[in-house]
Amino acid sequence: NEDQFKKVISHAKEYGYVFQSSEIYDGLSAVYDYAQNGAELKKNIRDYWWKAMVQMHDNIVGIDAAILMHPTTWKASGHVDAFNDPLIDNKDSKKRYRADVLVEEFREKIQQKIDKDITKAAKRFGDAFDEKEFRATNGNVLRRQKQIDEISTKLAKVQEENDLEGFRQLILDLGIVCPVSGSKNWTEVKQFNLMFGTKLGASAESAMDLYLRPETAQGIFVNFLNVQKTGRMKIPFGIAQTGKAFRNEIVARQFIFRMREFEQMEMQFFIKPGTQKEWFEYWKETRLKWHKSLGLGEENYRFHDHDKLAHYADAATDIEFNFPFGFKELEGIHSRTDFDLKQHEEYSGKKLQYFDHEDNANYTPYVLETSIGLDRMFLAVFSNALVEEELENNTTRTVLKLPAVLAPTKAAILPLVKKDGLPDVAKKIVEDLKWDFNVTYDEKDAVGRRYRRQDANGTPFCITVDHDTLEDNSVTIRHRDTMEQKRVKIEDLKAIIKAEVDV
Ligand code: ATP
Repeated sequence: NEDQFKKVISHAKEYGYVFQSSEIYDGLSAVYDYAQNGAELKKNIRDYWWKAMVQMHDNIVGIDAAILMHPTTWKASGHVDAFNDPLIDNKDSKKRYRADVLVEEFREKIQQKIDKDITKAAKRFGDAFDEKEFRATNGNVLRRQKQIDEISTKLAKVQEENDLEGFRQLILDLGIVCPVSGSKNWTEVKQFNLMFGTKLGASAESAMDLYLRPETAQGIFVNFLNVQKTGRMKIPFGIAQTGKAFRNEIVARQFIFRMREFEQMEMQFFIKPGTQKEWFEYWKETRLKWHKSLGLGEENYRFHDHDKLAHYADAATDIEFNFPFGFKELEGIHSRTDFDLKQHEEYSGKKLQYFDHEDNANYTPYVLETSIGLDRMFLAVFSNALVEEELENNTTRTVLKLPAVLAPTKAAILPLVKKDGLPDVAKKIVEDLKWDFNVTYDEKDAVGRRYRRQDANGTPFCITVDHDTLEDNSVTIRHRDTMEQKRVKIEDLKAIIKAEVDV
């Protein structure tokens, strides 16, 4: 799986999807640029989300709030005081780690040992294997499971109490070693705020300390009343937005999974207090359906309900995706009560209430939030799409099986040879189709090689113009995934492509 992940990263670079930022200066850690194909894929994912959330819901509207906000926003939201990670340094390697992540990874390793034992036993016993019974009776598994449970309980406790010394003690007790130096020589645990600071104003005395927003949600909360009034929105209604967010992440490995500058797609749904349970269920189901509609495989998603809730939340779940490095959070769905609006009322001194005509009463709405990282979604789609296939003639082909609706280029138009007027016909097709789709023209190399190139690039269709085309106005259309080829009329191309790439 580590190999698969390496392939994903190098394919993303080789085919113009994702580059390291400022690469000629050796890059900037955990910051990435989307290249010519990546920018298209990212835009298509964003559009797919926007269409499902805003266009398809009569009661959801979209906004585009600024990255810079009044600094009091972050006091009200709790980010100034509570947006901290517990960090610990290894004295020998001088490397810094998130204390909670060190403990989680230690626990994960024990889990992997259990999984290994189970796989081994399943192989040995064949059909007679009963996993439940094995888990309940095998000494090794029982011992390890007990260890995992103990670690989870202790971790939850120190997290809840924000007990920094407790964190360090847990790491020492478990004998966790530094992945780089292998030593157990740890410093104390410190807290570190994840927000990037900046300044507004030129002169030193009058400059105002600002933060780059660490989430897009607050831009929605502070505009709640503006949007409700000008849009004459009636509860329940939602406000959606996509945009950049910034976090000074310490553990920023795993490519575009955890970045310092990233993009979120968030929606806050304002509801009547007391209805949050129904809406929580509704949005869990609706969001999972959205994911499944892309066809990445239903087995690759699972819910992870939070036992330990943030102080403002009364229910929370993650939609986890099976990334090349395992199941990890892709999207969060949170029932946030009236925490955010109440906080902003308190700090701004302005009422953020809704007058319900049916009830003839004012109230502060409750909020249900769906929040997904666009870059994480990109990684989910991209890593899931990349496959190597064994073909019948014992060769392999690399295919990027992107959902057609998301693919950067929908069709490549290929003249079989570079002469006899075939390029002219092919270019004419490009001119016709480009009003509706991103298409590309390619005349270099043998047609088989061009097919492979488009396969690796994720292009769903190849359209080949040959000598017969000059006689019958037909072309060969080849499907990326099935490699099936069909003879079709040029005039039917638009409809054929549309049928697959439109949602
Ligand atoms: P994690 O626990 O993985 O750090 P989080 O719980 O802090 O994530 P939220 O604050 O709930 O994440 O943010 C909502 C979504 O934004 C996440 O589900 C994720 O998809 C995305 N996201 C958060 N932090 C990052 C990041 N550093 N890089 C890329 N995407 C991110």
